[in-house]
Amino acid sequence: MSEFKADKIKKVKDALTTCTMCGFCKAVCPSFKSIGWDSAVSRGRMIITYGLLTGDLKADDSVVENMYTCTTCADCVRRCPSNVDIVEVIELCRSDLVESGHILPKHKAVAESVLKYDNPYSEKVSVVKTLGIEPRKAKIGYFAGCTATYREKKIAAASLSILKKLGADFTTLDEVCCGSVLQRIGVDEKESVRLMEKNVEAIKALGIETLILSCAGCYRMFKIEYPKFVDVPFKVLHMAEFLAKQDLKLKPLGNVKVTYHDPCHLGRHCKVYDAPREVLKKFPEISFKEMKFNKSASHCCGGGGGVRSAYPEEAKDIAGTRLDEANFADVIVTTCPFCVANLTAAAGDRKVKVIDLTELVDGSL
Ligand code: SF4
Ligand code: SF4
Repeated sequence: MSEFKADKIKKVKDALTTCTMCGFCKAVCPSFKSIGWDSAVSRGRMIITYGLLTGDLKADDSVVENMYTCTTCADCVRRCPSNVDIVEVIELCRSDLVESGHILPKHKAVAESVLKYDNPYSEKVSVVKTLGIEPRKAKIGYFAGCTATYREKKIAAASLSILKKLGADFTTLDEVCCGSVLQRIGVDEKESVRLMEKNVEAIKALGIETLILSCAGCYRMFKIEYPKFVDVPFKVLHMAEFLAKQDLKLKPLGNVKVTYHDPCHLGRHCKVYDAPREVLKKFPEISFKEMKFNKSASHCCGGGGGVRSAYPEEAKDIAGTRLDEANFADVIVTTCPFCVANLTAAAGDRKVKVIDLTELVDGSL
């Protein structure tokens, strides 16, 4: 008996019959590089999914581990010559595992927090109360997201400060978790749709025409996932896209060596590569150098897909590789609070500083 529900079987079967088992994905998979087992590479995960589908394999702890050590970075999707959407297969497999009761304790706690408090951090104070700015009618809405509100607070503060300095007609909003956490873990789709509806209603109620986000994960949700489930009657911009269009009067950065890390959710998932680089070019003096693996070939920070909460050692290991790749830089700029958190935690006493683009801009504006 297959673990899969009938409505998902066709998508999974199509992907599995397209995969030629060539192993090209092995060359790029960060979880494979960290763990070293073929079961922890995209191809291995396809074989596990096939076993679950045919019923030859039963979901046990090792199956769960191999499906959840994937960071959903999508580098395998880029590399796959057969265009298999491996991340989609992995996430479909995850949702079936959760449905049949196979959920990691850390993920269970995170999911319960989202269901109870509308954020993954068990924070009892709402986003607007935490940010300290009451919502009002305005053309621009700033969606801070849970991580910039409750953990990487400097990013939300810098974003709000930039909007003030630019004289934008903006507001905060009564936001709840964007739903990314539940989708990545594979929790009941109805719950993420409930969050989507709540957010869209809050945005519409304020007459917001453009929504600006500083989190790559939230941005992917509003840009790619929300339209699959709800009507999105407003423009969605990442802060980097918004800033790229502004006339910014920035102070020179001086002799600081800067590089840029593409978050997987902003880059490979949403194809936003140029905007952050255009913003960096607006600095009158900047010593900028790309990392060897950049844009669509960028390497993952290691924190996504629920890996940081469930497998912190793997998240740290993958982040260490990314930090090594930036060993020429004084500052790694990125555009996602989750990447900032994971790279910073792994940096330890390295001299490199990891900051969000909003912080860099706000400090020079
Ligand atoms: S690269 Fe694509 S076709 Fe090749 S093994 Fe990986 S998933 Fe299958
Ligand atoms: S999404 Fe990333 S971590 Fe997951 S299987 Fe593909 S390359 Fe590996």
